[in-house]
Amino acid sequence: MGLQCWYVLLALAIIPTNPLALIKSNILSAQSKFQIILEPFLWKKRSSSNDSDHSQESVGGFFQRHFGKEVVDYLIDPFVAGTSAGDPESLSMRHSFPELWNLEKSFGSIISGAIQSKLSARNAKSEETKRSSEKTKHQRGSFSFQGGMQTLTDTLCKELDVDKIKLNSKVLSLSYGLGKSAIENWSVSFATNHDNRSQALSMDAVIMTAPLCDVKEMRITKRGHPFPLNFLPEVNYMPLSVLITTFKKENVKRPLEGFGVLVPSKEQQNGLKTLGTLFSSMMFPDRAPDDLYLYTTFVGGSRNKELANASTDELKQVVTSDLRQLLGAEGEPKFVNHFYWKKAFPLYGHNYDSVVEAIEKMEKNLPGFFYAGNHRGGLSVGKAIASGCKAAEHVISYLESSSDDNTIGE
Ligand SMILES: Cc1cc2nc3c(=O)[nH]c(=O)nc-3n(C[C@H](O)[C@H](O)[C@H](O)COP(=O)(O)OP(=O)(O)OC[C@H]3O[C@@H](n4cnc5c(N)ncnc54)[C@H](O)[C@@H]3O)c2cc1C
Repeated sequence: MGLQCWYVLLALAIIPTNPLALIKSNILSAQSKFQIILEPFLWKKRSSSNDSDHSQESVGGFFQRHFGKEVVDYLIDPFVAGTSAGDPESLSMRHSFPELWNLEKSFGSIISGAIQSKLSARNAKSEETKRSSEKTKHQRGSFSFQGGMQTLTDTLCKELDVDKIKLNSKVLSLSYGLGKSAIENWSVSFATNHDNRSQALSMDAVIMTAPLCDVKEMRITKRGHPFPLNFLPEVNYMPLSVLITTFKKENVKRPLEGFGVLVPSKEQQNGLKTLGTLFSSMMFPDRAPDDLYLYTTFVGGSRNKELANASTDELKQVVTSDLRQLLGAEGEPKFVNHFYWKKAFPLYGHNYDSVVEAIEKMEKNLPGFFYAGNHRGGLSVGKAIASGCKAAEHVISYLESSSDDNTIGE
């Protein structure tokens, strides 16, 4: 089985990674299995006039229509809690799972849509690209670095000109329209954390990656006039605490192999209060000495906002109790570390259209200003990196088209 599985709490059942195995497993009732089998027949392509009916639909509503309530409660709920700290009812389907949303629009059924799009993608590829995609297929999954994710940013820092990177600095204001050409048409003022002195730098373009709640605090001017940001809507953020604990291997009576365990909110009635736990030392063996298991446990989110902000002692009790129930981890953890994120994830809620529109409005009205990061297009590190790459491409085209314009004007 290896590290290929997640566990979801239903007598600690393994979640199979493909639908056939899901049908064969004992995770779901016979009724839910029938609903999954029948989904391709019940959800044939709908007429386009119906397509707008569900544009504001929640993640829970969408999956319940296709697969029933049990799938939402025991598969979707723990998955979204573990990846976004949200809950199926508060999350917008269109913004949280755009690929599946589009599959429904194109094919009606998610299952046959997924199969058909996979087949047509495969057919479209040449032998050469097929080979390289197989290569990437094997590389997909969780990734990290020796020393943890910090290694990524540290390496980027080393590769770039250190003098040009201003670490531990807060951007205070941005001004656009200082010169006649696109070159150095932006000025960014910032203060370093240690002396609070304001400094300014000239830029050709800006890629903003701060959360929108922080962008709202910045002062932006355009050709000497204030550019008010009062059109930016409020974004809801999910609070989260992360507890890192280690247990002696001999004290863990049911050490499951896999990525981790996800807890459906229904299991709160059985006393479980955490959202889920990553088996970090199983995924990345360099994270702990050989005789210890290292666990990363998430608490809070929309399911339990108050608990996210609890003291380390209280959270240690909560985590220890859950890990005892789930894995038979006995005694106290050997080591505990606690991180609290007041605004861990932006919630892609039902009003998220207005957030995306506001970002687009900033980009449209401020030449050379681009927005990247987890407030648009996905929450994961991978999606945040992809959005940064896309913004970099926009900057290149902006600067190329600006220099073309200048040439024409000369
Ligand atoms: C606890 C937790 C666990 C996660 N686990 C995973 C996981 O296992 N896998 C995964 O793929 N994703 C995971 N994520 C999600 C992922 O890490 C984030 O969504 C992603 O890192 C967001 O990147 P970002 O650059 O958009 O935003 P952030 O990482 O939030 O960066 C925004 C930066 O802007 C800075 N900033 C704000 N205001 C200013 C200002 N005025 N001037 C200068 N800088 C400013 C902030 O200090 C911050 O450094 C997790 C997130 C959390 C909170």
